[in-house]
Amino acid sequence: MNDVEISQAVSAVLSKYGVQPEQEKSTTNSVVTATVKETFPANLINQVVESCLAEKNVSASQLVTESKQNHVQSVKGIFSSMNDAVEAAWVAQRQYSLCSMKDRANFIAGIREVFQTETILAEISKLAVEETGMGCYEHKLIKNRVAATKSPGIEDLATQALSGDQGLTLIELSAYGVIGSITPTTNPTETIICNSIGMLAAGNSVVFSPHPRSRKVSLLAVKYINEKLAELGAPDNLVVTVDQPSIENTNALMVHPKVRMLVATGGPSIVRSVMSSGKKAIGAGAGNPPVVVDETADIEKAAKDIVNGCSFDNNLPCIAEKELIVVNTVADCLVRHMQNNGAYLLSEQTKIQLLQNVVLNDKKSGPNTGCVGKSAVYLLEKIGISAPNGTKIILVETDKKHSFVQHELMMPILPLIRVDNVDEAIDLAVEVEHGNRHTAIMHSTNVEKLTKMAKLIQTTIFVKNGPSYAGIGVGGEGFATFTIAGPTGEGLTSARSFARQRRCTMVESLNIR
Ligand code: NAD
Repeated sequence: MNDVEISQAVSAVLSKYGVQPEQEKSTTNSVVTATVKETFPANLINQVVESCLAEKNVSASQLVTESKQNHVQSVKGIFSSMNDAVEAAWVAQRQYSLCSMKDRANFIAGIREVFQTETILAEISKLAVEETGMGCYEHKLIKNRVAATKSPGIEDLATQALSGDQGLTLIELSAYGVIGSITPTTNPTETIICNSIGMLAAGNSVVFSPHPRSRKVSLLAVKYINEKLAELGAPDNLVVTVDQPSIENTNALMVHPKVRMLVATGGPSIVRSVMSSGKKAIGAGAGNPPVVVDETADIEKAAKDIVNGCSFDNNLPCIAEKELIVVNTVADCLVRHMQNNGAYLLSEQTKIQLLQNVVLNDKKSGPNTGCVGKSAVYLLEKIGISAPNGTKIILVETDKKHSFVQHELMMPILPLIRVDNVDEAIDLAVEVEHGNRHTAIMHSTNVEKLTKMAKLIQTTIFVKNGPSYAGIGVGGEGFATFTIAGPTGEGLTSARSFARQRRCTMVESLNIR
């Protein structure tokens, strides 16, 4: 039994004696305990607690052991071992299951508040860029803010009701328990914020396993969440992590028997691992989003949207434009407008080769990690070009087999491929998306062709006539998330993705029709 269970049992037994605690069911264990202590003499409370413990077959020493489990924490919510982190989150979730929906809403509001505090927002955004060496501060501010404000909370958990002659059945969305959430280096705090909100809304506790290269900023986000939750009287350790994130710790998280669900936000390897873990898994994996422009598009607007989408956080988001396929008749016009909006057209073959040597890894099988999330200005400098002011992306004309097209680079280099017509563009987009079914973008006013592309490419996100980030709620309708689960089918995850369905049936009653 934990403090909340004890307090509630105390209240229940006291009510049998005809005495009611002074206030309505409280939001927190500490408040309940305080109220009861103020109202009733200690010896009466002790007697009642003992009788409750005896009824539940729990010995006092067992209770003490449970409440004093020595999970080693350096800072609140941050543990030296993964096992301790999971055990603490497990105790926390049991306590949390006794909190009301009002409590949950309150805790989530607290998390939102923390990350909308300008100083904190600035601190984590700055640290994320400094620590990972990737991305753009101003865009991290936008991403963290949208995660805090637009990730759905408890309102996402709609109950279904079925009623008829045989009574009433409710289908409710209920917690899994402890969730293990593995987070990427590209959106470190954004993922922690949106997953904490969604996972807590659904009644879970969460153990984060961040990318080691975003250790400091991830731990800082977890620390802020813990401080706020403590201030609001939430059970301790609802959101935890480890002091030294590592692959070993992620592996320990994945096999821990008390972890009921795994959520991996990252590349193919970690998504494969969680999907073969034998546990309920959500896999939010890699993308290679193509953007198609046909002759019916508003070319000037398309140019601007593509440059903005591709350069957002230096192209780190998995949803960002990664290759451009354009119908030949409008290609020159599009390039011109893109140049007017911050695209640097790199046409010299030797320079393109040089860029390739710099930004690809030794085996030419993917990006050079040191260049991921760097700015266009930085990348151009690496090949001896001093970029003009306002340069946001590097535009390179290539064929479809080029490494810049085939690999998810996550840096603001946009390969452009010309095709003869829109049907060819759509087929090529499907091919280079590689079946990730993640994100695609199209600029067109031809509804038939927009529909055709959406049907053929089958991506989780399909943005029409806007920058890619409109698909995660930045300047587009809809909620935000940084865990986009294509492989396992949840799509843009929210609280309901982290909940399991349970049915509750009342037979032959409560149907009032
Ligand atoms: P990554 O796959 O290198 O790392 C992601 C997480 O998995 C990290 O915590 C890392 O430590 C862990 N990890 C990776 N391989 C592991 C292994 N073999 N064993 C144990 N743990 C392992 O990815 P990243 O570089 O941090 O992020 C970029 C990738 O993530 C891109 O491919 C991007 O498209 C994808 N991503 C997808 C989404 C989405 O919502 N679908 C969101 C963000 C990033």
